[in-house]
Amino acid sequence: MIPVAGFEGRRIAVFGLGRSGLTAARALKAGGALPVLWDDSVSSRMQAEAEGFVVEDLTVADWSGFSALVLSPGAPLTHPKPHWTVDKAHEAGIEIIGDIELFARALAALPEGQRPRVVAITGTNGKSTTTALIGWVLKQAGLTVHVGGNIGIGVLALPAPTPDAIYVIEVSSYQLDLTTTFAPDVAILTNISPDHLDRHGGMEGYVAAKARIFQAQRRHGVALVGVDETWGRGVAGHLASLGRLGTVISTSAHPGESRDPALSSLTPARQDKRFEPNSSTDHPKNWVPAFAGMSGRIEAHGGWLSVDGQHLADLTPARSLPGRHNAQNAAFAYACARALGVSHDATVQGLLSFPGLAHRMETVGTLGRVRFVNDSKATNADAARQALTSYDRSFWIAGGRAKQGGIDDLEELFPRVVEAFLIGESAGPFAARLGDTPHRISGDMATAVQQAYAAAAATGRDEVVLLSPAAASFDQYPDFEVRGEAFRAAVLALGATPMAPS
Ligand code: ADP
Repeated sequence: MIPVAGFEGRRIAVFGLGRSGLTAARALKAGGALPVLWDDSVSSRMQAEAEGFVVEDLTVADWSGFSALVLSPGAPLTHPKPHWTVDKAHEAGIEIIGDIELFARALAALPEGQRPRVVAITGTNGKSTTTALIGWVLKQAGLTVHVGGNIGIGVLALPAPTPDAIYVIEVSSYQLDLTTTFAPDVAILTNISPDHLDRHGGMEGYVAAKARIFQAQRRHGVALVGVDETWGRGVAGHLASLGRLGTVISTSAHPGESRDPALSSLTPARQDKRFEPNSSTDHPKNWVPAFAGMSGRIEAHGGWLSVDGQHLADLTPARSLPGRHNAQNAAFAYACARALGVSHDATVQGLLSFPGLAHRMETVGTLGRVRFVNDSKATNADAARQALTSYDRSFWIAGGRAKQGGIDDLEELFPRVVEAFLIGESAGPFAARLGDTPHRISGDMATAVQQAYAAAAATGRDEVVLLSPAAASFDQYPDFEVRGEAFRAAVLALGATPMAPS
């Protein structure tokens, strides 16, 4: 746990006692603050009381005695309308913050030279993969790394800081909305597409929340921005024009296509120096990022990472990073590791040996010439697009609770589908949309896996059975993880050889 200093002896209102709320309360208490907790749920309040916390009805409490409100990212700050605790905090004139901001304050309270380094990752898609990949690459290079945040362990529950540690944390837009001084040494924005607009009052609010990851970065900060869409390009152009940051590196999986005049200022002045080998493992006190003060652009295309057409690394042997989107994630990881002083060779070795994340394009097993790929995390058409694009041919298992638009946007990829096997409540509508593309309504996962395997094996070629549902799981499963595990179980029940970890 990371004790939060800076609030000693002060009363802090904590609303929302989910995992992150309770952890925040523990971390505040450990730092000497007096957290006062509340939640709408009686059982959450009872759990907090059982742990010895002060639980007080915040609807009637005296807010003038509080120094801050620590709000759960699940409670709306502005849209569709501010949570009642937000109104109370505004009336009392106190700040409203979240667990990421508490983490930032905890580190800021350490003497300079004793502070660990922080890598933070946000974006609409690819956050978890990029976070896990960076954690892996840094660990393989022998660094002390703690991975968490919106993925896995909540940030304040990670091990206490030491000067040599690097925290690699995934951050959601809701969490970023509750930060003011969070200043990651390396901040990454993978990409932006419309999502969670109800909570951010539209696209502008959503982009603004994502861009907050760069807002408090210091001079030596490294900003890595995906520039394959308009919003990312806008953010990168803005950061470059500010000239406030040490380094802005844009990464793209679409060479040439996304060149934008707004990014011309990213052209590096000292091109030769940008990615020169740097084996420094300086004490953080003396830390200067490997390409401090420089700007540039990494591209990920055709299996290669490159800078301005110059090849950096061949990613084709990286079996857990299939597809163009993963090449972009690798570009972020490359730039991040190099910024933190990991050598080129060690970084590339780490990328190639990444075992992958469960439920995201995860090869779970093989049987004969058929490979089974679990992309259960693809809960919308956009995510499934990445998976379908990664294979020239696939036996596609899809369906569940459809999102708006269903699979309409995937039509151009239907020629890559040898046959589709449809499950869940969207099976009928998906079948109608597939039209002439061969498909059957399999109904449940076990049937779909059996049918898909039989059809794939019958071709006598190397084939892929791909679970990438393009729909939520809630009609048949509690979440996408359980759905992915059901796929894995069905695959292994066929007698497939499980994929050994790398
Ligand atoms: P997040 O944590 O942001 O939800 P994940 O890493 O869990 O992201 O990936 C979610 C889905 O998004 C995956 O199914 C994958 O196919 C797709 N994806 C991963 N990386 C990217 C990227 N850089 N750009 C677009 N889509 C991506």
